[in-house]
Amino acid sequence: EAAKARFVARNQTSLKLHNEAAQSLPGGNTRSLLHNAPFPVYMERGTGYQVISEDGDTYTDLVGELTAGLYGHSNPIIHATLKSTLDNVGLSLGATTKLESQHARLICERFQLDRIRFTNSGTEANLHAIQAARRFTGKRKVVVFTGGYHGAVFCFSSGKPASNNIDLSDWVVAEYNNVEDAKSTIESTSDVAAVLVEGMQGAGPCIVGTDEFLHAVQASAKKANAVFILDEVMTSRLAPGGLQSVVGLKPDITSFGKYLGGGITFGAFGGRADVMAVYDPRDGSALAHSGTFNNNTLGMAAGFVGLSQIWTPEVATSFNAVGDALRKRLQGAAEGTKMTVTGRGSIIGIHFLQDGCKQLFDIKDRKDDPVLKELFWLEMLEDGFWITRRGSIALILSTPQSEMDRLVGGVETFLKRYERLV
Ligand code: PLP
Repeated sequence: EAAKARFVARNQTSLKLHNEAAQSLPGGNTRSLLHNAPFPVYMERGTGYQVISEDGDTYTDLVGELTAGLYGHSNPIIHATLKSTLDNVGLSLGATTKLESQHARLICERFQLDRIRFTNSGTEANLHAIQAARRFTGKRKVVVFTGGYHGAVFCFSSGKPASNNIDLSDWVVAEYNNVEDAKSTIESTSDVAAVLVEGMQGAGPCIVGTDEFLHAVQASAKKANAVFILDEVMTSRLAPGGLQSVVGLKPDITSFGKYLGGGITFGAFGGRADVMAVYDPRDGSALAHSGTFNNNTLGMAAGFVGLSQIWTPEVATSFNAVGDALRKRLQGAAEGTKMTVTGRGSIIGIHFLQDGCKQLFDIKDRKDDPVLKELFWLEMLEDGFWITRRGSIALILSTPQSEMDRLVGGVETFLKRYERLV
């Protein structure tokens, strides 16, 4: 209660802005994830690896725009590209452009895809990947997994679809990281068009799929003649060729999003040429694929420059090693407490669990200690760390090592200060 009272006292401008916003946005909010009781912190601007609140506080940005903010708020190469695109190309041209084909070629090369198509978001990428699978197989159902999040309406956190917007009978939910359940569900359900899975569940946050599980899902999808869709919207930044290259998977279709648009709204899906051909407009019976901003000039240009000049394979490898090292230090600090640290590479999940530090294989293993969870978030804010309320961290390329050291120190101090609770 004391920490919450300090939060309210410190963020009075945010409170005022929140009350005003609630007059036009339900709950003052346009992204549920950013909701926080009693009110969220309003950010005024970002610079480099930091964000600055309307209340005048500077935070080290560990939210990293849920992995899309990999390049930070003012990467000079991204900025110069956006400016020169505005000056020399203009905003979306209502036409096909070279910007789009060069980015497509590069992503295909990097992630070993035959063909790719762009969308406005990761949600849309999954929507189209599923539609392609349905047309290609002539079947209907989609197997997904408990705790899975594939975008706005495709959320299975409670083990059931959490949206009224999708037809429940089209979806079959199997247990994440449960090899037997995955096999029997995929192979014994009739009419399965696609199996859609994340290699690491972002919303967990960061529940890592085991290699054995992911390979079993891939093999069963093949057996069932279903399209195997790997959702790499979050995980494609975990290695030069995405998580699939680390685990040795060969999805039929992969969905992408986030940083691959250089920080501008972005999504893509791609893979096997024969599956993607369902969208080839030279075929009179092809599926339509529309989206006014699918090939928007800013995202195509910034995404290409980011992937070709900043996020080179070498940088992808070394930066994820930085994340691995940070996670190990946090895991060390968590030993013997209720804190559990999960994740892979540059994406980290911090949990406070009622039954103490343990490995998480499925969302049902996660019984949060809500008091500790909230206290941690509030105390990290006071220490100057902007972190998601759910406890996920997506590192920004320019975050200095000294801030990561400070984070480890802050976590250690927190665990000591609340020794009797943790
Ligand atoms: N799939 C996964 C694994 C995600 O993490 C997200 C977003 O967080 C999405 C899909 C949806 O992407 P977008 O928010 O761009 O619609």
